[in-house]
Amino acid sequence: MNVQIENIMPEGFVYEKVHNVMHGAVNGIALLIVPIMAENQFRIQLHGDIERSGKKENFLEFLKVLDQRHPFVRYAGYNGRNTVTIQIDSMEQEDKENLTIIASEITSKCMECGIPNCCSRCKNVLPLRAAAVDGMPALLCENCFTQEMSGANGQGIRKENVFLGFIGAVGGALLGTALWVAIGMVGFIAGIAGYAIVFCGMKGYEMLGKKLSRKGIVICIVLSCLMILGAEYISLGFSIYKELGKEYYLSLLDSFSLVPALLEEPEIVGGVIKDLIFGYGLAIWACFSSVRLVWRQVQQEQKPHTVVPL
Ligand SMILES: [Zn+2]
Repeated sequence: MNVQIENIMPEGFVYEKVHNVMHGAVNGIALLIVPIMAENQFRIQLHGDIERSGKKENFLEFLKVLDQRHPFVRYAGYNGRNTVTIQIDSMEQEDKENLTIIASEITSKCMECGIPNCCSRCKNVLPLRAAAVDGMPALLCENCFTQEMSGANGQGIRKENVFLGFIGAVGGALLGTALWVAIGMVGFIAGIAGYAIVFCGMKGYEMLGKKLSRKGIVICIVLSCLMILGAEYISLGFSIYKELGKEYYLSLLDSFSLVPALLEEPEIVGGVIKDLIFGYGLAIWACFSSVRLVWRQVQQEQKPHTVVPL
C-alpha cells in the first residue's frame, strides 16, 4: 500500500499515527478505519447495537451483498455480538473515494435500521470514546474506559505486598538454613542446602507477598546469599560445641562467639571457603534455570496492559 494515510482519509476523520487508526463519525455514527499495510487493505470497524434493532435481517442482507455492489470490498461481516467488520482493498488513488462511499453507506444503513453505536465491551448505547486497548482500537463507554484504565494501572488482580513477601522470604530461607545446619551436623558438606535456601525463600515470598515480582526475586537472592553465610557460621558454632563443649565447659553461646577466633586458623578457613564455594556454586547451578524461568514469566505478567484514549 503506497499511500499517505492523511490523503485518503474520508472527511471528518482523524488519523492516529502511533496506533495506526483513523477514527471519526459519519451521519452521527462513529467508525474506526485501520490500514493493514501487509494485506494492502483497510479494515472498517463499527460497534453497533445490531441485536436490539428491529431490522437486523435487513442490515445483515445489506452486508451480505456489499461485495457484489462494490468490487473493492473483500469482506463484510458481523460477529454476532456488536461488531461489523468490512475489509476493502486498497486502490491507492481511489482509496479516499472508496472509504468515503463505504463509510457513508454503512452509516446510512445504520440510521435506516435504527442501529446506534454501542460500547464494544458492555454493548450499552452510551456516549463512546475511541481508545486503543493493548494496541487494538475500540470504542468504549466512559464506564468501561474507566474500568480498563484502572485495570491497566492496577496491574491485574493480585497485588504484591513487598513487606509481607520479605517476611515470607526470611521464613522460607530460615527453613533452608536449618537444613544446611542439620546436614552440616551430620558431617556432610552442607552446600547442598544452598539450593533449598534460595528455593524456600522464593516460595515464602510468594506465599506471604501474594506475588513474586522481579523486585521480590532480587530480594530473595540477596537474602539467600546472606543466609548461606549465616548458615555456615551457625554450622561452625555447632561443631565447636560438639567437639569442645564438654571438654571446656562451653555453652552454645560461647561456642558461637568462638567462631571468629576459629576462622583465624588457616586449615579451618580453607574448609569453610570450600564449603561456601560449594554452597554458592550449587545454589547458582541449581537455581539458575528456575530463577531465569520465573524472571521471564514475571516479565510476561507485567507487560503493561495499556489503554490509551484516541
Ligand atoms: Zn461499556
